[in-house]
Amino acid sequence: MNLILFGPPGVGKGTQGEKISSEYGLSHLAMGDILRAAVRDQTEAGIRAKSFMDAGKLVPDTVVVSMIEDRIIAEDGKGFLLDGFPRNVAQARALDVMLSQHALKIDRIVFMDAPEENLINRLSGRLICRACGFGFHRQYSPPLKSGWCDRCGGELYQRDDDREDVIAHRLEVYREQTAPLLDFYQHQKGFFKLDAGGKMDAVFAALKEAVSE
Ligand code: AMP
Repeated sequence: MNLILFGPPGVGKGTQGEKISSEYGLSHLAMGDILRAAVRDQTEAGIRAKSFMDAGKLVPDTVVVSMIEDRIIAEDGKGFLLDGFPRNVAQARALDVMLSQHALKIDRIVFMDAPEENLINRLSGRLICRACGFGFHRQYSPPLKSGWCDRCGGELYQRDDDREDVIAHRLEVYREQTAPLLDFYQHQKGFFKLDAGGKMDAVFAALKEAVSE
């Protein structure tokens, strides 16, 4: 089973994507994580991507399309979940071409949405473990010991692009460039719209239902 999860920043794609991938044994291909690893390792693509990411802008299509293609090709056939890719219609078209070249197809496309107020609250309170990547929230799911990860004891940090001014820009980019994906996908077979404004467990239950249908 191959899935696409898309929606605005802060809607919970990363958290839910991780949970659903482990439930169904899928590879979780999160474009943002792949890019952050490239920035950290100072690869050529990472160096090109950094200034766009810091500003809350989309990294150029040529960079992200070839990065995700490398990852998809490297998959072993157990199925993958795309989280944060595609993020505009040009990327969706490039994905279609790439999938047909490799005789692959997407079985489910899940659009997650939530009111903008929720998105801003979730993003601005988000804390991430530097060591294991696990996510916390200052208000909704605070760590037991402030500043440190419950799971592995690693240090928690706030992403540079989770600052309020950058959040506003990311939401604008979403509205202009990613939201049109809804028109592109909503009439395709396997499309499902999920209300992700509720509690994490309820959203996960609804997502599981959508995926297993
Ligand atoms: P995320 O972790 O999904 O919130 O992504 C963080 C940042 O990575 C975004 O704000 C963009 O700068 C960049 N990014 C992630 N996915 C894509 C994509 N599909 N196309 C272009 N840029 C992306």
